[in-house]
This record gives sequence, C-alpha cells and structure tokens, in this order.
Amino acid sequence: MTAYDDLMTFQSHTEVLGQVAGRLSWDQETVMPRGAAEQRSEEMAVMEELLHARRTDPRIGEWLAAAEAPHAVGEANLRHIRRDFARATRVPGRLAADLARVTSMAQGQWAAARAADDFAAFAPVLHRVVELKREEAAALADGGDPYDALLDDFEPGATAATLDDMFGALRPRLTDLRNRVLGAERGPAPLSGTFDEDMQLRLSAELALAFGYDMAQGRIDRAVHPFSSGSGQDVRITTRTDPADPFNCLYSTIHEVGHATYEQGIAPQYRFTPLGRGVSMGVHESQSRIYENQIGRSRAFTSWLHGRMEQAFGPSGMDAEAFYATANRLHRGYIRTEADEVQYNLHVLLRFDLEREMISGRLAPADLEEAWNARFEADFGYRPDRASQGCLQDVHWSVGLFGYFPTYTLGNVYAGCLHAALRRDLPDLDASLAVGDPAPATAWLRERVQVHGGLHPPRDVIARATGEAPSEAPLLDYLETKFGAIYEV
Ligand code: ZN
Repeated sequence: MTAYDDLMTFQSHTEVLGQVAGRLSWDQETVMPRGAAEQRSEEMAVMEELLHARRTDPRIGEWLAAAEAPHAVGEANLRHIRRDFARATRVPGRLAADLARVTSMAQGQWAAARAADDFAAFAPVLHRVVELKREEAAALADGGDPYDALLDDFEPGATAATLDDMFGALRPRLTDLRNRVLGAERGPAPLSGTFDEDMQLRLSAELALAFGYDMAQGRIDRAVHPFSSGSGQDVRITTRTDPADPFNCLYSTIHEVGHATYEQGIAPQYRFTPLGRGVSMGVHESQSRIYENQIGRSRAFTSWLHGRMEQAFGPSGMDAEAFYATANRLHRGYIRTEADEVQYNLHVLLRFDLEREMISGRLAPADLEEAWNARFEADFGYRPDRASQGCLQDVHWSVGLFGYFPTYTLGNVYAGCLHAALRRDLPDLDASLAVGDPAPATAWLRERVQVHGGLHPPRDVIARATGEAPSEAPLLDYLETKFGAIYEV
C-alpha cells in the first residue's frame, strides 16, 4: 500500500459517512416522524462530530506529504483532499463550535423575526454571526481576501473580483430589460383555475423521466422546500404542490432533476472519491437552470407541455403561444425564490454586494435593512415595506451561509454559456423538445459536463464543454432576445 492508497481508502470511508449523513437530512425533511426531532438532532450532531474528526485527522497531512498521484485522476483527488484538509484545519475548534451554536440559535431567531416582520429583533444575533464569519474568513484566507475564502467553500477558485466584473456587466442590462418588459403595454396573463395536486405529481414524475432522471436510483417525495440530495446510486429529489400554481411544482421538479441527473451522471468509478460529487454550486446550478429555463421554458418545450397539461387538467383557454408567454411571465415582486429568469439575478446581485460589505466590515449588520431597501429601490423601483419581503426573506445569512448567493447567478451565467454551445451542436433540438423529449440535451450535458464530476476545476468544466472561457454575454443575449420577443420591447 502506498500513501496515496491509504489516503484514498480513508477518504472513501469519509465519503460514505457523508452520504449517510445526507440521507439523515433527507429523511428529516420528508418522512421522519414529527416527534423524532430531538433524537434526530443528537444523531446528526454525532455524525457531524465524527465527520469533522475524520476531515481533520492528522494522518491526512502525513499521507498528503508522502502521496504521489498515480495518474491525472489521482492528481485531481489530491487537489480536492489537500484543499478540504487545509480548510478544515485552519478553523480553530473553539470557533467552529461557536459558529455551530450561534447559527443554530440565529436560525430560530430569524424565523421568529421574519414572522413578526421585526428586523430589530434579529439584528443582534446577525451581528454575532457576522462577527464569527469574519473571524472564520480571516482564518481560512490565511492572508488572502476574507470574502474569497468564504466563496471558495461553494465555488472553488472563484474570486469576488472576477464575479464583480461579470455581475457588473449584468446589472445595467438586466435592470434595463426589466424596466422595458414591465413597462410594456401588454403582457401575458397568469394561469387561472385549480389544478389537481395528485395530477401535478404524476406529471412531475413524467417530466423527471423525460429529462433523464433514473427512478431506479432515485425517488420523488414532497417537502416544504424542493431539494436534491445524495450522489451515485441514490439521488433523491423533493417537490411541492400548490393547487393554484402547477408551474411551481413542475418547474421545481425540473430544476431539482437538473441537480439530480448531474449527480447520477457522474462516472461510476468516481463513487466515494472527491470526484464523485458535483464540482461546485455554480456548475450544479447551471444544470438545474438550463433544464428549468433554457430548455423547460423554451417555446418548443412549452408547446408540448401546453398540450400535455390540457390533457391532464382540461382546457387552458389559451393557445400554445400564449401559454409560452405565460410560462415566462414577469411580475413585480419582492421575493427571490418567486422571481423569473430576468429579475432573479438582480435579487442575487443585491445580496452579493451586501454580504461582501458585511464581511469587509463596511456595513454594520444593524444597518442591513436600510441598505437592503435602498438598493432594492434602486434596482426595482419600489421599496419593500416589510422585513419579510426584504432582508429577512432568506434563511442563508442566519445559518452562516456567506459566499453562497453568488453561485446562483454564476449558475445562470454558466447555463447561458452551455445553452449557446448546446444549440450550436444540436441545431435540431427544438424538434425533440416539441414532442416533449429533452433526451438529446441531457445526453449532451452528460457527456460534456456531468460525467466528469470533480475532475476539472469549475470554470474549466464550462470552458471545456463550450470551447470558450465563461462569460455573461450568452446569458444576456438569450434573455434580451427571448423577453424582447415575448413582450415586444
Ligand atoms: Zn438549484
């Protein structure tokens, strides 16, 4: 046995335990008995402790010092393990424990403050979370940029400066497009009526299969928030239903199927290694977004979906073209998770800028609500009048997720790049989409992106798949063309 072999055996057991811990979380969100919460939190805490001890095990450092990668795949494995080990060991145990304790308390206080629309009640604990995150960022950065160190957890190799260039180019064109669309004389109507929820779920399962989700190694359950969990042979998703809004269920499902097929599509030989998981949040989100938006909300695919939904729910009172516009409707709103393709990124850019200000110390958490509302008004033209519609709407900051938000927009940017290349390579794709068959798109994504798992760094994944360095230009062109045509602006 070489040091590399010893390291990889140890790592594979850690990966197995990580999968098991993930399944405990899935269970908690779906089928766990209500009365089991206390016991489950003990079970998960012990799993976390075990995982933390393994991730910081000093033997990893010794193996890494002695290991020689036998091949390119081995190089990639060592790159991941070296990075994760450095991150895990830089944060002092005392700080990790404080963070766990304070964020778990903050999450409860956030939920209460949001329900009461009372930012002032949340501000003190947010202040404490930000203090600890700043300390953690400094420890992780090891002399580098603190915010980049947090970002690196979700998007290895990304920096705020690169994202800032990309996002800086997005913001003016997105606000302009948004203003033109919402100022248009006429716009599509929303769906009206009541839509049987069991039928929504049946149709969801049908869509999941069509997009390439393998139900023999997956399952769909209901949960409050749709999510995907697991890797390899066991990748599960959840969805939700709303009798008035079947798009919520169908497009949430397609979105999660994008995440899930990525995990299912990774080469089986990478299972239980660092390469056996999606490489970053941004690349992950590119798979869910291209399924949901560029493919799922395309004119060709919605023309099929229109017919299928009429079969399932009865006459829609609109033709396929009107249905396409309805599936892409923009509306005034405050909530990120309810936003459309155009406005979604503006919600994210706002959070990216504000969280960097908090981590740098330029924005005191106590002043967050005012800063949020001012920025929201600058981009959207109106102010939130309640904290639950403003800075208290997302759970992320309360649980210490700083550096996570930008990966949503990065995913959209990557989806834009992939979509342009996909259309170039598959000029007849619309013929398949128009009969409800996205299989050629899935096959393309599988071969170019999914199968590689963590083999290449995130930006390289997109560059290799498309033949070009990632840029915001394809996304902007796509959005301006699509919504310019739908709204005639
Ligand atoms: Zn997602």
